[in-house]
Amino acid sequence: MTMKHRDILDVITAQRTVEGAGFPVRRPFPTAQLDNLDPFLMLDEVGPIDWPPGEAQGAPDHPHRGFETISYLLSGEKLHEDSAGDSQIMRPGDVQWMTAGSGIVHSEMPSPAMHERGGRAHSFQIWLNLPAAHKMAAQRYQFIANDQMPLGHSEDGLVTVKVIAGEAYGVTAKIDTYVPVTLQDWDMQPGATAKPVMPPEQQMALYLFEGSLAVGPRARIIEEGQLVIFGDGGAIDLTLDAGAETPARFLLFGGVPIGEPIARHGPFVMNTREELMQAFDDYQAGRMGLIAR
Ligand code: FE
Repeated sequence: MTMKHRDILDVITAQRTVEGAGFPVRRPFPTAQLDNLDPFLMLDEVGPIDWPPGEAQGAPDHPHRGFETISYLLSGEKLHEDSAGDSQIMRPGDVQWMTAGSGIVHSEMPSPAMHERGGRAHSFQIWLNLPAAHKMAAQRYQFIANDQMPLGHSEDGLVTVKVIAGEAYGVTAKIDTYVPVTLQDWDMQPGATAKPVMPPEQQMALYLFEGSLAVGPRARIIEEGQLVIFGDGGAIDLTLDAGAETPARFLLFGGVPIGEPIARHGPFVMNTREELMQAFDDYQAGRMGLIAR
């Protein structure tokens, strides 16, 4: 039996916004057009921005409860600290997968070296929901350094995949997840073709952050900054014209939808309004901890 190739359901152009302390963000969701892509709650492409010496900004101490935050660095250097005692410098290619669960306080700042000398900052910030059964799970911190990242390759060498979650070209991710998800950074060189078969129970999407790419059974041309939402099926058709001037870089991601009510406000994502109120109470009472410095 052959499974049908996935059609394109929708193409959404990411919105440009300015976050927090003034860094530019390209955001496919959540927006007025698309609230979430169950089980994913948020996808932010932060930067690229070139900071002058002494001016790089970050996200100082703030709490989370009820979901997981994923940070994937393309350029720059970040210092992550949290109330569970984790402290880590992140460098390009590194991935940090943090389960906030019942509550955590963390900060994501430019590293002291980055702050001092300035430079390019570019990263992805991704929020992944947890099902009700795991919203109050213990905090967990998973880190994959760039040189430990599982890499998938096409036989012709034109496609390289960083397998953060899921599987590509027979290579399996190291990250352990609560719901089955796929999250991969694909690099396709001019002339490359790929037809990855993604688990049919997962709702899949693609966010192109560099170049252009022909996607889907009718080879629709997708441009940088666009999000593609796929329909049911298995394989995804991807082709980059041999005459293309730049490679195509994109996140291919998706998961098994959780299908529960979402009550979200600020840094908390729960199932009901009462649980949200409780989260604010618990944070204000200090029950999510503090970062020891
Ligand atoms: Fe955060």
